[in-house]
Amino acid sequence: MTPDLARLRALIAEATPGPWYARGDNVVDDADQECAGIIATVTCEPHEPDAILITEMRNQLPALLDELERLRAVVRSIEWTHCVSAYGRDCVSCGNQEEMGHAPDCELGAAIGNSTPGP
Ligand SMILES: [Zn+2]
Repeated sequence: MTPDLARLRALIAEATPGPWYARGDNVVDDADQECAGIIATVTCEPHEPDAILITEMRNQLPALLDELERLRAVVRSIEWTHCVSAYGRDCVSCGNQEEMGHAPDCELGAAIGNSTPGP
């Protein structure tokens, strides 16, 4: 499954601004809890580890998306440039030529969110 980065960024924009904090069973939006809003209460065991995981995912997701986009840009910059055949530039993973686009099962194409053949 290719992550839908635009959907994740939209969800971040609509959600309660971060950072979030885990306080026992609760995920809250204020570290001091003086005026904390409870964003979520974990009711399944293990309560606190789940609350910490939700908090860390919320707080680190923007940086993960930034890093993924940065790495995709790096891959895109080299995907067609390192294997130059007599007929043109080839994908280093699936071997398709640039004008064909990536093969449907190309791991490199999937990694950069472009697993369908090009024009
Ligand atoms: Zn490919």
